[in-house]
Amino acid sequence: MPSIFTRIINGEIPARVVKRTDDMIAFHDVNPQAPVHVLVVPVLEKKAVRDFTGPEGQQLLGRLMQFAAEVATELGLDAKGYRIVANTGDHGGQSVDHLHLHVLGGRHLGWPPG
Ligand code: AMP
Repeated sequence: MPSIFTRIINGEIPARVVKRTDDMIAFHDVNPQAPVHVLVVPVLEKKAVRDFTGPEGQQLLGRLMQFAAEVATELGLDAKGYRIVANTGDHGGQSVDHLHLHVLGGRHLGWPPG
């Protein structure tokens, strides 16, 4: 069963897409936790960072971080800053088993997270 993000990538579920390439997509989170809350997702569906192995995995993870930073820049977040988060597993609060980075900004974010 494809993840909800794969279904967005395939155009089966609508999303507010910010940026897209052959291997990455960024779209607004449907339940935003900050004034800017965008999800950055590799097209390749794997659950976690640890699943992107070998040179290809390393390249894709690098691209993912670069893509997130480009999205942040394009959304005007560089001046005041932002946070990139990858929730992983149960304790991490991961609810969609398709690796994604949250890009959060537009307000001061507390630390430590809840
Ligand atoms: P996580 O809990 O870290 O796995 O993050 C999953 C995120 O996906 C949550 O912040 C949800 O609000 C978001 N989400 C779930 N379904 C959709 C959707 N159809 N469009 C946009 N964001 C979604």
